[in-house]
Amino acid sequence: MFADNFSLAEMLTAQHRIAGTAIHSPLRKFENLNQALGFNSWLKLETMQPIGAFKIRGACNAVQQLSPEQAGCGVVCCSTGNHGRAVAYAARAAKISATVCLSALVPEVKIAAIEQLGATVKRVPGNQIAAMHEAARLRTVKGMIEIPPFDHRHVIVGQASCGLEILHDLPNTASIVIPLSGGGLLSGVALAAKKINPKIRIIGVSMERGAAMAASLKAERLVDVGEYASLADCLSGGLGEHNQYTFELCKELIDETVLVSETEIRDAMLFLFESCKLIAEGGAVVGIAAVLSGKLSALPEPVVFIISGENVDMAKYLRIINRKPLQLDNVTI
Ligand SMILES: *Cc1c(COP(=O)(O)O)cnc(C)c1O
Repeated sequence: MFADNFSLAEMLTAQHRIAGTAIHSPLRKFENLNQALGFNSWLKLETMQPIGAFKIRGACNAVQQLSPEQAGCGVVCCSTGNHGRAVAYAARAAKISATVCLSALVPEVKIAAIEQLGATVKRVPGNQIAAMHEAARLRTVKGMIEIPPFDHRHVIVGQASCGLEILHDLPNTASIVIPLSGGGLLSGVALAAKKINPKIRIIGVSMERGAAMAASLKAERLVDVGEYASLADCLSGGLGEHNQYTFELCKELIDETVLVSETEIRDAMLFLFESCKLIAEGGAVVGIAAVLSGKLSALPEPVVFIISGENVDMAKYLRIINRKPLQLDNVTI
């Protein structure tokens, strides 16, 4: 098993390492939600992390392990927004300079937040792959240290701390539903969870348009699916041509993959706001969307949904909670 390359001991060490920066996030039960879904479920609120998303875990675990020499070179990353913000946050805490490469699909609010943390933002025309290439170029040309958004050992092991917390707080967890993009979150959480209890069911959920990992798992090789405007902007982007870890880990650890539509994502955002008073971004609610839409049922209970981030594009969000139509590229929902 490829997963054998990772040990519970290194995950526990990472959890300890990042404890001063990332929080042990709450695992909360919402009666309204459980009534609507019809089963015993819990929400892991990564929305409450500093920077408003789980990405702080992996970024922090990677940045804190840099040697003084590496730290002096500065760090660089590409990002759909939240990873860049996490790297900027972790780098500022460690007094390291950071450069974040962002594609044209990244919402303005996420860009502003990264600049506020003192990082240099490089806006790259084109898609996430272009941003990925620019980060690689800066690594090669300027000697900066690259902190990839998901396909990096320290990043994956950092995200695993989220899984350790779930199993600590709810030891009888039977299923974990996880938003899936590059698969860093899913790989880390599933590694930790299945090492503690191999029977735990792991479900990965992506949006219908542009789900690179789901398409690659189906084709059994890395495939490029294109990028589209989505309410789940944080889930867009490809896996890169040289994926080392997350494709193999997802292949081994995922029990089921589900895809949800933009209207299903929108409805789940509205539902969480109205019923749980919870603000969560599109990419964070895909698991709830999968259940509310009837695409995911009969899960072993209790079920944990990772609500991975809260960094909504406010203009779009206000339209959603006011039930107004929304434009995504050439599609109106
Ligand atoms: C990055 C991100 C994801 C997806 O994480 P991967 O490790 O790329 O699969 C999910 N939700 C939010 C809020 C994110 O920022």
